[in-house]
Amino acid sequence: MRVPTREPLGPDPRSKLHTMTVDTERLNEVQSARWRNQWAELKAQVIDTDLCTGCAGCVISCPHDVIGYHHDQGGYRPFHLEDELGPDDCTHGQKGCTTCTRACPRFGIWEAQADDHLFGRVREPDEIAGVYQDILLTRASDDHVHELGQDGGLVSAILIWALEHDYIDAALVSYLEGDTSSWKAIPGVAANRDEILASAGSRYTYSANTLALDEAIEAGHSKLALVGMSCQSSVPPVMWARKAGKIAKPIVFNLGLLCSKTFDDAIFEELFWTKYGLAKEHMVKMNIKGVFQIWMDDGAYHEINLKECHAWTRDGCNHCPDFAAEHADISCGGIGENANWTLTIVRTDLGREIIGRMIDQGVIEARPGDSDPGAIALMRKLSEKSRSRWPTSAEVSVRVGLGQKP
Ligand SMILES: Cc1cc2nc3c(=O)[nH]c(=O)nc-3n(C[C@H](O)[C@H](O)[C@H](O)COP(=O)(O)OP(=O)(O)OC[C@H]3O[C@@H](n4cnc5c(N)ncnc54)[C@H](O)[C@@H]3O)c2cc1C
Ligand code: SF4
Ligand code: SF4
Repeated sequence: MRVPTREPLGPDPRSKLHTMTVDTERLNEVQSARWRNQWAELKAQVIDTDLCTGCAGCVISCPHDVIGYHHDQGGYRPFHLEDELGPDDCTHGQKGCTTCTRACPRFGIWEAQADDHLFGRVREPDEIAGVYQDILLTRASDDHVHELGQDGGLVSAILIWALEHDYIDAALVSYLEGDTSSWKAIPGVAANRDEILASAGSRYTYSANTLALDEAIEAGHSKLALVGMSCQSSVPPVMWARKAGKIAKPIVFNLGLLCSKTFDDAIFEELFWTKYGLAKEHMVKMNIKGVFQIWMDDGAYHEINLKECHAWTRDGCNHCPDFAAEHADISCGGIGENANWTLTIVRTDLGREIIGRMIDQGVIEARPGDSDPGAIALMRKLSEKSRSRWPTSAEVSVRVGLGQKP
C-alpha cells in the first residue's frame, strides 16, 4: 500500500497543561464488574443530565422495543414507551435487562471502553483527537463522485468501492426527506451507487443514521457500513466492548464525520428565512467553513456568521466531547486550506486496508496530511474545544488531555 505518510502524534507543545489521564485500573474494574445498569440509570445519568446526543444507540439495541424516539424538531431524544413504572424506570430493566446502558456511548466510562476495544489501549493525554494511524487529504478520482461530495467525495467513493469489493452490502446513511428542497435530514439505507450518490453532501441538522439498521436488516443486508456523526460512530464499539454487540454485528465498517455541532431544524424558518429571506426550497448546497455558507438555485451565495447560528445549536450537542469521530475506522472532515479535499483520519487496520487499496487502484487521490499542517492544528484545537464541553461533574476519564485546575 502507498499511503503517503504517517502523521506523527508527537508531543503537544502545550503538553505540560495536559495532565488528565485515563485510570486504567478503574477501567479494568469496570470491565470485570457485573453490569447492572438499566433504563433507570440511563435516564438519570445520561438523559436527565443532558449528556444524551440522540445517537439512538439505546433505541436500536432494546430487545423489548420499549424505547421510543421522535426524529423531528425538538425531539432527537429517547423516551420510555411503557408506562407501568413511569418514564424513569423499566419493567424489563427491573427483571435484569441492561442492554440500553451497554449500548450508550455516553454512559459510564464509555470512551475508555471504546478506545480499549478498538485499539487495545486507552489514549494518551496528547491524543486529543483520538487514536489514529495516518492523516491524509483525499478526494474521489471520479469527477462525478467528487462533484456530488461535500468536500472530496471520499465518503461516497469509499461506500461505492466497498460495495463493489464485497466489504459491505449496504450502508446506513442520511437522505433528504421527500424532494430535496425539504432540507429535512432522515436516516436511510443505500445499497447501490445511485443511492450512495443520492445521499452525498452534508446536511447540518441531525440524522440518527443508526435508526436505519432495522430497514437494512429487513431488506436482507448483513454487512453494513455506518456513516454517522462522531456521536453515532461510537455506538458500535461501545456495544461491542460491553457485550451488547449482537445488534451491531452487521455493522462491519464505521465511517465517522467530524462534527462540532448540529442545528435544530428550526434554523431554516427562524433564521435563514425570517432574517435573511432565504427559502430552503431554493437552497442547493450548504457548508460550514468558518461561516455558514449557503448557495441558492439562482446562483446567489450567502454567508451567515456562525455566532448568529449558535442559538439554534441542537441541545444534544452542547456537552459532546468528540469532534473527530474518534471511534470510527476512518473519520472524515472538511477542514483545511484546500477546499474539495476530505481530511481523512485513518484509525483502524481495516480503515488502513481500505484506504490503501483504494489509493493503489487509483480510485482516490491522496496527499500527506502534513502538507496542510494548519488543518491538523485546527483539528486538534477543535477537538480540545469539544472535549472541554464535557461537564466536570460527569465521567472524569472523558476529560483526558485537558488541563486540570490546580
Ligand atoms: C452535521 C455535520 C457537521 C459537520 N461538521 C464538520 C466540522 O465541523 N468540521 C469538519 O471538518 N467536517 C464537518 N463535517 C464533515 C463534512 O461536512 C463532510 O461530511 C466530510 O468532510 C466528508 O465529505 P465527503 O465529501 O468525503 O463526503 P460525501 O461523499 O459528501 O458523503 C457525506 C456523507 O455524509 C452523510 N451525511 C450527510 N449529512 C448527514 C447528517 N446530517 N447526519 C448524518 N450523516 C450525514 C451522507 O449520508 C453521506 O454518506 C460535518 C458533517 C455533518 C453532516
Ligand atoms: S446518548 Fe444515545 S444511547 Fe445514550 S441515551 Fe442518548 S440516544 Fe440513547
Ligand atoms: S456535536 Fe456532532 S457528534 Fe457531537 S452530539 Fe452533536 S451531532 Fe453528535
